[in-house]
Amino acid sequence: MSSFNPAIFKDLNYIGGEWVGADSGQTVAVTNPATGDHIGSVPMCGRAETNRAIAAATSALPAWKALTADARATHMVNLCDAIMDHLDDLAIVLTSEMGKPLAEAKGEIALGVKYIRFFAEEGKRIYGDTIPSPWADRRIVVTKEPVGVAGAITPWNFPNSMIARKLGAALASGCTMVIKPSEFTPFSALAFGALADKAGLPKGVINILTGDAPAIGEEMCENPDLRKITFTGSTRVGKLLAANAGKHMKKISMELGGNAPFIVFDDADLDRAVEGAIASKFRNSGQTCVCANRIYVQAGVYDQFADKLKAAMEAQLSPGNGMEPDTTQGPLINEAAVDKVAAHVADALEKGATLVTGGKRLETAGTFYAPTLLTGMTQEMRVAHEETFGPLAGLFKFETEEDAIRLANDTEYGLACYFYSNGLGRTYRVMEQLQYGLVGVNEGVITTEVAPFGGVKDSGLGNEGSKYGLDDYLNIKYSCIGGL
Ligand code: ADP
Repeated sequence: MSSFNPAIFKDLNYIGGEWVGADSGQTVAVTNPATGDHIGSVPMCGRAETNRAIAAATSALPAWKALTADARATHMVNLCDAIMDHLDDLAIVLTSEMGKPLAEAKGEIALGVKYIRFFAEEGKRIYGDTIPSPWADRRIVVTKEPVGVAGAITPWNFPNSMIARKLGAALASGCTMVIKPSEFTPFSALAFGALADKAGLPKGVINILTGDAPAIGEEMCENPDLRKITFTGSTRVGKLLAANAGKHMKKISMELGGNAPFIVFDDADLDRAVEGAIASKFRNSGQTCVCANRIYVQAGVYDQFADKLKAAMEAQLSPGNGMEPDTTQGPLINEAAVDKVAAHVADALEKGATLVTGGKRLETAGTFYAPTLLTGMTQEMRVAHEETFGPLAGLFKFETEEDAIRLANDTEYGLACYFYSNGLGRTYRVMEQLQYGLVGVNEGVITTEVAPFGGVKDSGLGNEGSKYGLDDYLNIKYSCIGGL
């Protein structure tokens, strides 16, 4: 870690604009998943420190929300400029703690900046309403106000942009924040503190702390000064937080797990579908909540698609340390992630699937699993019902459009889905019947700051990005002006 500017590498927490450790002095170690090397340690904070972070955000709230949207936008643009000035350093930190290829790390950070810039402008369009009054002597005015202090709990798979998305919407709305990143990728998060300092953000507007996740989550749910919880992570933890936040009637946004179907119909452009499958399935080594998890291919093109996908995987996917320029597939985040992929492969093979390529852990340092293709998948297999979160592409065969829709919807999740077809009627029929928040039609990667991103069913509540992304951080106020 010697080749980057230590100014953005912080191993303390950022509370009220000060760099502090845990009360206990304890720390948590962070390792590089590509090498197993120790990168550094961060404070092991609990409820007391979280309480102080919420107090700092509460103190900063009145002045921040009193700023004009334009003034908040200026601060946010300054933060974006600071991020882009340190793009290379931030990417090295991200790749070192998370593993993704350096070019993807840069892409992630640049996309995060787009979210912040988008919301900086969108904050100027938080319009209210005047509603025609049913009373001659009264007027009805509807305004939108920031919900207050927002608590963000974020995952390791996009250590930078998951924070940027939430931070953009929260700050533009006039909220202040307490951010708790994943224990696996805290340095990308703590860098936001250094950048906020550089950009001159008022102290306490952003607070970042690391440590005991359940304790920090409890304090966020139970402390009455924190009014909103925004979470990206597993459905299990999301439900826990939603239940606890519900007890205290807090506003919540939940971006949870998925089990994305990727459907290839007989009338699809197969080369385009293969390209989409590679991008959707193997981006981030299969570790995104919108990664294709179940690939359904219509019987007439099944064998051809399998051959083309195998050829593309072997030609395009190159596992290795993300710092190497040729790497397209970084490591999985940890041993548990490798074990899960191995278990899904073993389960499928036991139940009759055929191994086409991959199917093993790589014999290198770090936590790598070979990009894997299985055919002959069936609904009895674990992959059909659980998110693998790794580089395993399993091909299921189907006969009719109705079958494809039924199988695709046969899950408690509803985040992303994808399908490939060149028929206009089919495109609309399938698009309308898929029970998902995000639909990629002839496209495998669809995320952008200008469109809403959110799931239905067990995949969550609320949207990030687009004009809809601000709603999650705003309360509606109705004022009735009488006696005219
Ligand atoms: P993943 O399986 O993708 O790591 P998690 O839901 O376990 O997803 O983690 C996402 C985020 O939630 C991380 O920041 C993690 O530390 C945090 N987290 C885990 N358990 C809890 C909990 N009980 N309360 C609050 N946050 C939690």
